[in-house]
Amino acid sequence: MRGVLPGLLLWFAGGVAMAAPLTAQQMRTLSTSNPHDLVADVRAGLDAGLYVNDPAGEREALWWMGHAGVNISDAAAVTEAVARLKSLGSVGHDTLAESYAGFLSADQRILRGDGGGVSDALQAAALQLDSSDPARRALAKFQLCDAYTMAGQPEHSQPLCREADAAFAALHDDWNQAQALNDEGSNAYATAQYAQAGQYYQQARALYEKVGDHSQALMVGDNLAQVYLKQGKPEQAIALSRASLADERAAGRESDALNSQYDIARALQAMGKHRDAMEMIAGTVDEARKAHLDAQLPSLLREQSRMAEANGDLKLALAAEREAMQIASGYWKVSLGSQQAELAVRYAAREKEIRIQELERNNQIKNLRLRAAQADVERNAMQLRRQRGTLIAALIAAVSLVVGIVSLLLLLRSQWRHGRELRRQAQEDPLTGVDNRRGFFRRAQAMLERRDADAAPLHALLLFDFDHFKRINDQYGHPFGDIVLNVSLQCLRGVVGNRGRLARLGGEEFVVLCPRLGGSEALRLAEEMRAAIGALAFPDAPDELGVTVSVGMALFDGTRCHDVGSWLRAADDAMYAAKARGRDQVVFAQEVEELLQQVGATPRTAG
Ligand code: GH3
Ligand code: MG
Ligand code: MG
Repeated sequence: MRGVLPGLLLWFAGGVAMAAPLTAQQMRTLSTSNPHDLVADVRAGLDAGLYVNDPAGEREALWWMGHAGVNISDAAAVTEAVARLKSLGSVGHDTLAESYAGFLSADQRILRGDGGGVSDALQAAALQLDSSDPARRALAKFQLCDAYTMAGQPEHSQPLCREADAAFAALHDDWNQAQALNDEGSNAYATAQYAQAGQYYQQARALYEKVGDHSQALMVGDNLAQVYLKQGKPEQAIALSRASLADERAAGRESDALNSQYDIARALQAMGKHRDAMEMIAGTVDEARKAHLDAQLPSLLREQSRMAEANGDLKLALAAEREAMQIASGYWKVSLGSQQAELAVRYAAREKEIRIQELERNNQIKNLRLRAAQADVERNAMQLRRQRGTLIAALIAAVSLVVGIVSLLLLLRSQWRHGRELRRQAQEDPLTGVDNRRGFFRRAQAMLERRDADAAPLHALLLFDFDHFKRINDQYGHPFGDIVLNVSLQCLRGVVGNRGRLARLGGEEFVVLCPRLGGSEALRLAEEMRAAIGALAFPDAPDELGVTVSVGMALFDGTRCHDVGSWLRAADDAMYAAKARGRDQVVFAQEVEELLQQVGATPRTAG
């Protein structure tokens, strides 16, 4: 049978692969019934690139190739499957592939007697126990149960196996449920619950038969045979062991086959067929020796020794025991050596890992420091920007404040100027620029309100009126009359100087208010003014133009002139007196009064 897998894979010369990959179910069956060929076929498929675009297919193929490797103690095949699954897992982020790798390496290590197997299985199961897929969770539980069973820890194994059993039942996964039941049987057997173990095995066997996996059914039969032996049913045991032995031989599962032969030998011994039993065990030991199955050989030799002793062949018993001890010590030495070597490799790898982690941590710290420094720089820049912003805002506020204050001051100034201008306009004559009537009154009033208004030298008031001005207007036009008034007043400004202040009372009638000028000085000023006007020349006038003024002068004596009104009236009277006397002259009010008193008349009242 070996090497023939009809209809599964066909290989053509030239290396062109043409085949559908085996289904998972096919590989599952083959992993027990024909493990050698399964390993070879999966390898050939991998070499031919059969799974290049099918990582899930490759994962399943490697999983069953690994199982087959475990079944035929093909360490190379298991190692290859584990390595490939690990790489599939890391490249494709496929946790199932990673778990498969862990479960297979757990199986391999447990079978080698390596203590780390269960922890591998635990790690691999941890990847799937939280999975949302119930099939993956059930598988993880079963693999853990199986690892504990193989490691001889039934108390840990049994609860997991029960959970896996129930989970597979719920999923209607008969084949896997049979696996769980088989392990439950093994755990019951290990705790000497033979009846219970027998029931589990029967159930498992029935399920394997149901799905058509005869090899697995036979393998369970092998286990059942051990129960029968314990129950004192060697005939039933021998039948089952023989059936499974045939299958194991066909499948090339040497180790399983030797175990079956061992069981047959024990059954024969139990049946009292000592010669047959001795022959069977001797043959088995021989095969194991030839196949160098050093792991199994000591227990076979010990059984041979026990049987020989029971059958009275003490020489053989001693030789077998001695050989068992020799092989066991050699095997353990080798196993110990390889375990030590593996440990050394693992520690070296771990050390390297730790160093890498340390480097990574250092890099992370450096990165963190760099990021912190960058953040600092950014924070400072931000603070600077914020400060600059605040400064600019403060500057803007200050500038706005200054601008506001300046604008306010300018506005106040312009308003003040405007007010002053209005006040000026209200008190100023627009034609000549001297005070108007209101301006004169205000100024005169203020002057008189000061104390000692009538103290010497006295205030003087000169009132003058242009002579025959109507004629000028009539003759040269009103605008020319304006020019005459303007020119005359500018001239008089110069003449008066700081001795008094000019004001227009109305029409062509003006006054000069002279604070503390005194009578003689006032008369002198009046004369100067009259003379100056008389001397004015108007080149634009077509004929000789004689402009003259009549001036009336009054001193503020506090008696006749006791307020602005009486003072103005006195000056006006004097000016009229000047007109009456022939114009172009100055008349002093007090002089007029004396004259009037002489003629017995009262002074004219001003209107
Ligand atoms: P007198 O005073 O010598 O008796 O003769 P008069 O011609 O000057 O007579 P009065 O003083 O009564 O008349 C003043 C005239 O002056 C009347 C008016 O038309 C003229 N007048 C008054 N104000 C102005 C002015 O601002 N411009 C001009 N062009 N004429 C004015
Ligand atoms: Mg006049
Ligand atoms: Mg007049």
